[in-house]
Amino acid sequence: MGCVAAQTRWSGHHLPWRPPLCLSGRAIKTQGTDACARLRAGLFHSAMAKLYFNYSTMNAGKSTILLQASHNYIERGMQTFLVTARLDDRAGAGRIASRIGIGAQAACFDATTDMQALIANRLAQGACACVFIDEAQFLTTDQVWQLVRVVDDLCVPVMCYGLRVDFMGQLFPGSAALLALADEMREIRTICHCGKKATMVVRRGPDGRAMRGGDQVQIGGNETYVSLCRRHWREAMEG
Ligand SMILES: [Zn+2]
Repeated sequence: MGCVAAQTRWSGHHLPWRPPLCLSGRAIKTQGTDACARLRAGLFHSAMAKLYFNYSTMNAGKSTILLQASHNYIERGMQTFLVTARLDDRAGAGRIASRIGIGAQAACFDATTDMQALIANRLAQGACACVFIDEAQFLTTDQVWQLVRVVDDLCVPVMCYGLRVDFMGQLFPGSAALLALADEMREIRTICHCGKKATMVVRRGPDGRAMRGGDQVQIGGNETYVSLCRRHWREAMEG
């Protein structure tokens, strides 16, 4: 239910085109079909390019929202560039898929990828209105700084989607850097079984109990993760 509410609320946030703003915050005048065509091609978004971090806990519908936001651009004749973590091959390598059954091809990053070079290479092949990055919690701090340069120097908006904290309640490195550096942050909400907002996640072991240790990264097995409010996360971890 939380997911549905989030999608409804979010769909409006991602209308991809608003008049670009100059540095004073006023809309840049754009007249004529040529200007409109160029705007649609994504060549005039420099003044509005920002680094966004859309965060949540597990199973809140992040990939669904990412795919819908990208679709909003494509529907209006603009191109997007989708990137996901190479180690997340649940949907097949280089594919972003949502639990409700939609998906799209994506480029991959791992810890060695130069994100600025990857995106610059894509831009060299044609206009791109927005870059979408799934599983952004797996970015390194250096890679988040590379995304900052994409936004500031290449003037392309970058929308990152990822988990805020792991099952131990610790920030992921990519999320910590994004929380520090993003221009805008938005929370994608889902709910605990008690109805409160879920901000934490537990990983269940084979015995069904919450695990208190283990690797931060475990891809797949989404069913072993349960999103909870902080109070119920503490009960699960301390009980
Ligand atoms: Zn709860």
